[in-house]
Amino acid sequence: MLVDPSHAELMTKLGVRTSPDVHGCDVVIIGAGPAGLAAAVYAASEGLSTLVLEPAVPGGQAGTSSLIRNYLGFQRGVSGEDLTNRAIEQAWLFGANIVITRAAKLTARGPDRMVRTADGSEVAARAVIIATGVTWRRLGVPTLEALVGACVFYGAAGAEALAMAGRDVFVVGAGNSAGQAAIHLAKYASSVTMVVRGPGLSSSMSGYLITEISKTANIDVRPGTEVIDGAGRSTLQTLTLRDKATGTTQVPAAALFLMIGAEPHTEWLESNVERDGRGFILTGRDLYRAGQPPVGWPLKRPPLLIETSMPGVFAAGDVRHRSMKQLVAVKAVPCRQSHRHGENDAANPDHPPVNGLVSVPGTAALAPVPDWRPVTRPAARPCSWAGPGTRARPARRPASARTCARRYQASASGRSC
Ligand SMILES: Cc1cc2nc3c(=O)[nH]c(=O)nc-3n(C[C@H](O)[C@H](O)[C@H](O)COP(=O)(O)OP(=O)(O)OC[C@H]3O[C@@H](n4cnc5c(N)ncnc54)[C@H](O)[C@@H]3O)c2cc1C
Repeated sequence: MLVDPSHAELMTKLGVRTSPDVHGCDVVIIGAGPAGLAAAVYAASEGLSTLVLEPAVPGGQAGTSSLIRNYLGFQRGVSGEDLTNRAIEQAWLFGANIVITRAAKLTARGPDRMVRTADGSEVAARAVIIATGVTWRRLGVPTLEALVGACVFYGAAGAEALAMAGRDVFVVGAGNSAGQAAIHLAKYASSVTMVVRGPGLSSSMSGYLITEISKTANIDVRPGTEVIDGAGRSTLQTLTLRDKATGTTQVPAAALFLMIGAEPHTEWLESNVERDGRGFILTGRDLYRAGQPPVGWPLKRPPLLIETSMPGVFAAGDVRHRSMKQLVAVKAVPCRQSHRHGENDAANPDHPPVNGLVSVPGTAALAPVPDWRPVTRPAARPCSWAGPGTRARPARRPASARTCARRYQASASGRSC
């Protein structure tokens, strides 16, 4: 019996690996949200030995969504749980290994990128993808927290906008993401009310957004106001607002979008991976200052599209500076940039190419597997630097027996489970 077990103890009892059993592999992916899982599918499908680190339940934010409507191939939507299970299975079938642990440190050692995990293990990788996502700041109103997903959303305005047609919706926040959300929602909703705690938008929002909001007839801005409560049986129905000047009122509300700040999971990184003022990871062109690559950039080529200031370390998904905070932006596809990655790095023998590694956001989908032939997971590719006699053992199968009945498209073997 376990009394108040830690996450790791619980996972160990469930038979899930909580410590990497290899010392090296081609790619370490940090985070198993949609971006990390997509990267895992494409890295492993390219034959790269792939290790995914995730401290919680894989799926990230999307895994908590009851219905994702804007995902390619799911015309009637898909639950976050279902999408996650499919993605895990797909990555697993291609040979990716998922370990339930947190990445705690990232350093460069010659050509290797060294990832230390929370339990002190260290894995050398030829490349690393950071896909650690964000946490949305919470409003802290229990009645509204209970309705999250039931017309109360943290972020997700882009995905939910169509469903808001003809409804009266509220956006809390005064930053650019709140402004963008309000403008987008106003295209569909009957009315959008922006609830702003401070005296106005000017200190926190870009001028062009403020202008656009002022020109949009169905957006109303309520400065000096807070959401203090809400109610609804199965979905949100009313909000209680406290206006500093006029007091408390209850208003009908079909949906509430909370955009009070996203905090990236990058606190564990050191200064060798450059970030913006809010902690989001800078990549590609965003690393340039006055036309110059980041200080200490060792290569002749510029950083690739989603490459960070540490060559061979990439960032994907919400954790990237200026990301869209939507699934569509975090899906990844491998593109054979390895030759680019390689040829330009010839000047730097410390940084050899990694075939098929680089992920580009926004182009591919995790499609459902089309038919039901039994499948067998191919042997995982041995990790190249795992030490004498060490092989990457296939991870314990994470999904149900149902997974056996799905066809592994790339497998021509036809062997059964
Ligand atoms: C309720 C909800 C509903 C949504 N619905 C939609 C929708 O319908 N359509 C849409 O387009 N978008 C939707 N979104 C947004 C979408 O889910 C996110 O854009 C997407 O999940 C971002 O993916 P990500 O992999 O970048 O990050 P995340 O999903 O945040 O995943 C990051 C993962 O990294 C892990 N991690 C963090 N730190 C570490 C570490 N140190 N080491 C290892 N792992 C770490 C976390 O545990 C997490 O699992 C929704 C979001 C929410 C919250």
